[in-house]
Amino acid sequence: MSPRRGFALAQLDLRSFDRSCAARCHVQKPDRYRLIEALPADVQRITRGAGVSYVDASFGEDCVVQDIGAFDRLIEFDAEQGLLTVEAGASVGDVTRFALGHGWLLPVVPGHPRASIGGCIAADVHGKNPARDGTFRRHVEAIELFDPVAGWLALDADDEAGRFDACFAGFGIPGLIGSATLRLVRAPAAYAMRSLHVASLVEAGEVLQAHAGAPVLYGWHDARPGHFGRGVVRYGLEAKEAERLGGRSPVDLPKAIAPWPLCAWNRLGIAAMNGWIQHRYAHAGPRHVAVEAALFPLNEARAYYAGFGTAGFVEAQWLVPHARYADFIEALHSAVSRLRPRISLIASKLFDGDPQGLSFDGRGIALAIQMPQPRERRQAAFIEALTTLALEHQARPNLIKDSSLDAASARRGIADFEAAREQLRRFDPGNLQRSGLTARLGL
Ligand SMILES: Cc1cc2nc3c(=O)[nH]c(=O)nc-3n(C[C@H](O)[C@H](O)[C@H](O)COP(=O)(O)OP(=O)(O)OC[C@H]3O[C@@H](n4cnc5c(N)ncnc54)[C@H](O)[C@@H]3O)c2cc1C
Repeated sequence: MSPRRGFALAQLDLRSFDRSCAARCHVQKPDRYRLIEALPADVQRITRGAGVSYVDASFGEDCVVQDIGAFDRLIEFDAEQGLLTVEAGASVGDVTRFALGHGWLLPVVPGHPRASIGGCIAADVHGKNPARDGTFRRHVEAIELFDPVAGWLALDADDEAGRFDACFAGFGIPGLIGSATLRLVRAPAAYAMRSLHVASLVEAGEVLQAHAGAPVLYGWHDARPGHFGRGVVRYGLEAKEAERLGGRSPVDLPKAIAPWPLCAWNRLGIAAMNGWIQHRYAHAGPRHVAVEAALFPLNEARAYYAGFGTAGFVEAQWLVPHARYADFIEALHSAVSRLRPRISLIASKLFDGDPQGLSFDGRGIALAIQMPQPRERRQAAFIEALTTLALEHQARPNLIKDSSLDAASARRGIADFEAAREQLRRFDPGNLQRSGLTARLGL
């Protein structure tokens, strides 16, 4: 595609957060609404929020990338009702700080504080306890959307309800989200965080279910064959008073993290890191932790991500139904013992929702499995085995996270994939919205 005139386009190399996907792209960085509108209606495009997705969802080779990072203002706040209208480029970190400053909280935020509100809608992200708070869709009241042909549209659950629903896990296909009105909830003073040590992923599943009502709830686990599943489940309850606040709020995790020249997550590095986690959370608690620090623990994980090195990593996240979970864990343990991959960490979360469209939701335990150097032979063989096992156990893949997933596996993992795809494309009949992700998954 040759650069066009009338709206500035730069040629930039863009890369997914997991470093597995990269492309040289035509990028438009509008800073006024009329520049968004200036892109001719027949130009293929994709909206980019913060660009911190693990996968290439916000860029692609054969389209114009509309980076709306400049649209990050907080527009209107109803302090009585807790309704906050923001431009879609605003980050969840900024929204959280603003809301907390007024005694309110956005209950679902992903782990990366720079993720934009538009990106959270388009990926229908989950937060610290999806079983309690659902996914992002539950907390959005209204959306302003730009359609290249129809122009600006106001969407909510009553007006244009079909298109409103399609925006969640729509991956940008229904159009460019310009702003959204969020429903906040009253914020606690702090969270009283506890750490429960578990010997296995099956035990972790039981502990997660026993604490399903906690606003913060997740586990981190060792995946080495001899220690498989050992780890810590962290849960936080609302504290009325913030006493002796632990957990500083370090600066937000950067959008892009310069990798170390070599991968630190070899067998020794993984052993050291898991030892550090055991040591760090040896104290059962409770410890009072500031709300922001509890929501964004990955702000402290800069070195962890840099340590994947230039070859990057893959995060495969699968939601396993309760009925198949114990069998899946047994099969996964045996695949790990047989194939001996390097897994830097497994994160566990509890889900209790209805899967809608292409959203990552359902009832079961989600495991996010992070693996360095995914193209190395042994690693690639394990990733393939994991996908097969997960599909055999009727697990659902998270499309916004797993850059190793192909179109056939996505269709097997999401029973009504094709219907959801058709539903999304109804709002983009000209197939204008496209990205590396939509191309790989045949969306
Ligand atoms: C360290 C880390 C931790 C994470 N933790 C979680 C987690 O806990 N839970 C979770 O669910 N996810 C998590 N994620 C994934 C992340 O939240 C999502 O990928 C999110 O979409 C990123 O937002 P973004 O603004 O960077 O979106 P981008 O990467 O810019 O785009 C993502 C998708 O949204 C679309 N999009 C973005 N903005 C708009 C808009 N204004 N209008 C229309 N479409 C738009 C893009 O086209 C693309 O399809 C994490 C990612 C990282 C790197």
